Parts: sequence; C-alpha cells; structure tokens
Amino acid sequence: MSQLFLNKSLIIVIYACPHCDFETKTSNSLNRHIRNLHNMGAITYQCPYCDFSTNYKESLKNHLAHKHDIGTKHYNCPYCDFTTKHKKNIPRHIKTKHPNY
Ligand SMILES: [Zn+2]
Ligand SMILES: [Zn+2]
Ligand SMILES: [Zn+2]
Repeated sequence: MSQLFLNKSLIIVIYACPHCDFETKTSNSLNRHIRNLHNMGAITYQCPYCDFSTNYKESLKNHLAHKHDIGTKHYNCPYCDFTTKHKKNIPRHIKTKHPNY
C-alpha cells in the first residue's frame, strides 16, 4: 500500500488553490473548489476559448494574448469596448449593437 501512495505523490499537480493548500490536475475542479470552499462564486472573467478563468481582467487579457494570440492586433468599436481581431467584424458589430449610430 505504501507503494501506491508513493506513486500517487508523483502525479504532477498543475493547479494550486491560491487560498489554501488544495491542488488539482484540472482547472475545472480548482474552480469548483474555490467556489465551494472559498465562496468566491463570482469568478468574473472567463476565457471564451478555453476553461481558463480569473478574477482579474488584466490576467485574462494576458492569457488571451499569450495563449490565443488575441489582443495583440485588434480593431476597436468606436462606441464601446468591443474589440476584434478581424476588421470586418466591426461594421457587423456596429450594425447589431449600435443600430442608432
Ligand atoms: Zn482552497
Ligand atoms: Zn483561454
Ligand atoms: Zn460597440
């Protein structure tokens, strides 16, 4: 049985809870842990491309730039903070979101 325990301890743990000693291999279960045990249901910023989420807008921006190559080159809506990688999305966005302009 001690052999089994040793093997278990060799598992590489990737996600560590910033609030306690909890560690897990999947970000999903870390998120669930934080929600359930630390009452931080409002994980505000969720990456739309993977299951990364963060409380800080800046770190989501960093994540998007580094992991998904988004935000480095982008086009801004002149009427709100909508941004897109594709210039052609801007007129479409304005048409649907800002029809009065
Ligand atoms: Zn924790
Ligand atoms: Zn992501
Ligand atoms: Zn807009």
